[in-house]
Amino acid sequence: MEGKSAPARPELAEQASQFMLLERAVEQEYRPLMLAELQRRVNAVAQAAQTAEPACPRCGKTMGRKDTRPVSWLARFGRLSAPVSRFVCRACHVQCRPLLDLLGVEPGRISGSLARLLALMAAVAPYSLAVRLAWLLLGVDVNAMSVWRAAQRLGQAAADYSEDLSAYHADSRSQAIVNPDAPQTVVLSVDGCALGMQVRTRRRHRTDGEKLPPLPTLPDGHFREVKTGVLLLPDERVETSPGRHWLVRRFLVSCLGDADAIFHRLYAQLRELGWMGADTTVVIVGDGAEWIWNRATWFIRRCEILDLWHALEHAWAFARLRYGDGSAQADRWVHQIAEDLRAGKVEDVIARLKRLHPKTAELRESLAGLIRYYYLLA
Ligand SMILES: [Zn+2]
Repeated sequence: MEGKSAPARPELAEQASQFMLLERAVEQEYRPLMLAELQRRVNAVAQAAQTAEPACPRCGKTMGRKDTRPVSWLARFGRLSAPVSRFVCRACHVQCRPLLDLLGVEPGRISGSLARLLALMAAVAPYSLAVRLAWLLLGVDVNAMSVWRAAQRLGQAAADYSEDLSAYHADSRSQAIVNPDAPQTVVLSVDGCALGMQVRTRRRHRTDGEKLPPLPTLPDGHFREVKTGVLLLPDERVETSPGRHWLVRRFLVSCLGDADAIFHRLYAQLRELGWMGADTTVVIVGDGAEWIWNRATWFIRRCEILDLWHALEHAWAFARLRYGDGSAQADRWVHQIAEDLRAGKVEDVIARLKRLHPKTAELRESLAGLIRYYYLLA
């Protein structure tokens, strides 16, 4: 009997369909026209905006034109350029290029709107794939380094904003966003995840198509914990089918900082959303990590929940050790624990675990850890 061959792994097609070719051909044909029209409009703005000399932002006197040089930037339809005048105040030595501020572009850079699209692609795909997507979806030819830079800048801007917001709301003088309709209950779920960091003091440079050697394995101590919190309203769940609930929206807060930093950010986001009222109860869901529960006390009205998934993860670790990886027995054992925990029978589970007498030291240690964890639930 002939065996079935494995299905072919799907991949991004190199060959486009007939329709895609037609679509691309029209795009290619009209792209230069769009670029030309955009350039024409930029020229009009450049001319209108640079006829009059601006007032100095510091002393208010009229500034003098210093020079006019062409400046170019990359946009979705291609590269644009404009003659940009630089003005200077003789008294204060202040310089400015009002046209660049007006257009919101930077010399030699990717335009803001395109940079945001590239960063979005970099958020969902590796840089090399993001480059191919940029070409396929936008017809824009950029290299991976440009996409990396766009992602870095957007990420930095987001991190700065989050940090400023956190500092603003941590300051007791900041105006609380008073919301008389603040929800009765909000859920805050928080967790940490260790990420390996490639720490290099110098950038690696490639010469003449030489292939760079793979980066070395991460040494210990180069791991940092990314802490993430999710905020949601339990009232916003919808029942898509009987017994199945889905969330309409949730807010993600993330940082590479310490425990205080993530809690400051979460608190700021709660205030910003108007989710912190005088009577709001914050339901905190987390694993057994001490840093979470030490800070849960920041919320006066709260409910602490040790989440089931982490509780089961610990059960799995012991079950695999005891019954072997992928064994049906391990499966049944964890399943029973899950059912009992769901039914709130934590004490029963602990009592059962205590009656076990594992043979090896490794098993005994794993069991002791599991029992300790479940005492947190009790
Ligand atoms: Zn001045």
